[in-house]
Amino acid sequence: MIKSYLIMKRFFCEELNNVISCFHDRIMSCCSGQIGPVYFEAYKGQKIDKNLFLDIKHKAFDLLNEEDIENSPCKGCFFLRERKETDIISDKFNLINVSHWTQCNCGCIYCARMLDSKGKISQKTEKSGYYDFLPLLKQLYKNELLDRENLTACIQGGDISVLKEFEPVVKEFLKQGINHFYILSNNIKYQPIVKKLLDLNKTHFTTALDCANAELYYKLKRVDKFNDCINNLKKYAKSPNSINVIVRYIIIEHFNDNIEEITNFINLMHDIGIKTVEFMIDNKYLLFTDLDKTPMPKHYKELYLHFEQLCKEKNMNLHLWDKTRYVVDKYLLNK
Ligand code: SF4
Ligand code: SF4
Repeated sequence: MIKSYLIMKRFFCEELNNVISCFHDRIMSCCSGQIGPVYFEAYKGQKIDKNLFLDIKHKAFDLLNEEDIENSPCKGCFFLRERKETDIISDKFNLINVSHWTQCNCGCIYCARMLDSKGKISQKTEKSGYYDFLPLLKQLYKNELLDRENLTACIQGGDISVLKEFEPVVKEFLKQGINHFYILSNNIKYQPIVKKLLDLNKTHFTTALDCANAELYYKLKRVDKFNDCINNLKKYAKSPNSINVIVRYIIIEHFNDNIEEITNFINLMHDIGIKTVEFMIDNKYLLFTDLDKTPMPKHYKELYLHFEQLCKEKNMNLHLWDKTRYVVDKYLLNK
């Protein structure tokens, strides 16, 4: 039966259209926190077939209409919007999430990958315990699945400092064609290649500090590395493009959810030359809380407004991840 798309409401998702996420346990469409369409379960270095990717993508879009949405894994996702006539399904991805390893040299109490890493703190620089990314990357380029000119690579982890492939992967992207990187790290180890990319205006660099003192840092991250992080931030802050260094403050209930710590954090960042800070709510909390039924702690609104106000006073940029912006607008500010 041919569906009448003229009268049926259809939906669209930019993530589904543009993003490929290479996680340790699967290769999939998005990193929305919701399990969107999956390209490969338990990827173990198999050969890439362009048609297989495009077939899965098209079939996922076919379900994005008011009649079939019940059968779509995207049902209820906040990234969905109404589809416009001008929305074209692309045969290339322009954002690739690289997150195929879980080893990390700290142990944040809020780590979303705790179950996979078993909370192990690893100092050794090694290969991913799941698969090598470099051969996969070369295949994705060879199959013309990546939009070289407009491509952003978001390198997450685990942490880059304990991944043997980190520098070779960055160099391969540069060799094959890339527009921009978005690199996340706990920032315990200084990375000269990140500084170089910052100086070339080729990357954003995001790190979560979440506090302004060594004692609380230890409670949150289970390693005594607060001073190392501050010293590294000072080095990155010297880049002419230091506006692209983003330091996160992730609100963790009963640890750093107070005005005093936020004030100290913003003051410290300002003093060491950081220009951009990010307010974020613990993603694990957001994943496991139905905010329509369980309201967020009342003081979170005050914390957000205080953070925003301090940024204004200090002339610093306030960065918000799309999902945080959505949650703040809908559940804190009731817009
Ligand atoms: S609608 Fe949500 S779950 Fe589906 S692909 Fe988009 S971001 Fe992922
Ligand atoms: S730095 Fe990231 S990967 Fe490492 S423990 Fe913290 S949240 Fe997990």
